Amino acid sequence: MNGEPGFETRAIHAGQDPDPVTGAVVPPVSLASTFAQTAVGVHSGFEYARTGNPTRAALETCLASLEGAARGLGFASGMAAEDAVLRTLRTGDHIVIGTDAYGGTFRIVSKVFEPMGITWTSVDLTDLDAVRNAMRTETRMVWVETPTNPLLTIVDIAAVSAIAHEHGARCVVDNTFATPYLQRPLPLGADVVVHSTTKYLGGHSDVVGGFVATNDLELADQLAFLQNAVGAVPGPFDCYLVLRGVKTLAVRMDRHCANARAVVALLTEHPKVSRVLHPGLPNHPGHDIARRQMSDFGGMVSFLVRGGRDEALEIVRRTKVFTLAESLGAVESLIEHPAQMTHLSVAGSPLAVPDNLVRLSVGIETAADLVADLSRALGGPG
Ligand code: PLP
Repeated sequence: MNGEPGFETRAIHAGQDPDPVTGAVVPPVSLASTFAQTAVGVHSGFEYARTGNPTRAALETCLASLEGAARGLGFASGMAAEDAVLRTLRTGDHIVIGTDAYGGTFRIVSKVFEPMGITWTSVDLTDLDAVRNAMRTETRMVWVETPTNPLLTIVDIAAVSAIAHEHGARCVVDNTFATPYLQRPLPLGADVVVHSTTKYLGGHSDVVGGFVATNDLELADQLAFLQNAVGAVPGPFDCYLVLRGVKTLAVRMDRHCANARAVVALLTEHPKVSRVLHPGLPNHPGHDIARRQMSDFGGMVSFLVRGGRDEALEIVRRTKVFTLAESLGAVESLIEHPAQMTHLSVAGSPLAVPDNLVRLSVGIETAADLVADLSRALGGPG
């Protein structure tokens, strides 16, 4: 093979050579909590499973490869991954964070780290002058999400990373919505990528997990120290589930993107919908940036209901193929009302979302069934 293997090949093989003892083509789920040493300190690379575990090591190698990272670290959830990155800050440090970051990110920053003396400013990251103005001498981190949850705003990763670097800060990108199949922030200039592997990487709504990837080896050592010292590690079976999910990431994402296009076509024509938010739409303010930094536009679609909050609540109650539930990124289609579900924790804050907003995680079912289901729920023909 010439050069580096392709994305799909790495998704299936990176970190997953056949087991040297049995030849098993799937990495074994290593349940052991401790590993034998032949003499004190002489071992196979694993001592104690909080510090390192073979199934977790396979996952870390695979996901780091997909993100183009030198190092990757697995965590018990996306929030545990975010926590580790934020713990590298010290009292007095300042973070710049987007105005429509995931509600849990806003919550951990404002309710966990702010009381420990970390300050933060939320700013519209699509306004590069506003980003520059928000930077202070004590700014250490700019926290980017793109596309954002749930408004699907697109942030220019290269431009924001450059501003962060001019001010001696790191740019962290939450790549949960795009996945490394559609967008790789590190080659674009970001310093750190975080994931909720609960979403597209796991892909089947059956595991909660998180991941951090970086090419900064000093930071990776610091994060590995925190992973072990704090101990918010994923269990071996959870690592296996994410590894299994990642093998089909590319084909799933292609179908998520195609089905999202079919749903967007229905919604943009529908009289009950006042606005469709999807970066694939040419009139989306971030469309050109998305074309540059993503290979396709993803499976998340949000829309504003003309009839307001009550009608939005009716629509999410009426769908049958789209299940009313939180979370996203799995094979089955989900529908939700962010203001009262995923984003309830930011109600009344500058990050509050409109109450006529509906968010769809478009799954990989038959596209015509998804379109017919939404059409019925919206009260149209179909
Ligand atoms: N980042 C984004 C963009 C998310 O949507 C979520 C969860 O919904 C998280 C982080 C947190 O991940 P987890 O639920 O795995 O802790």
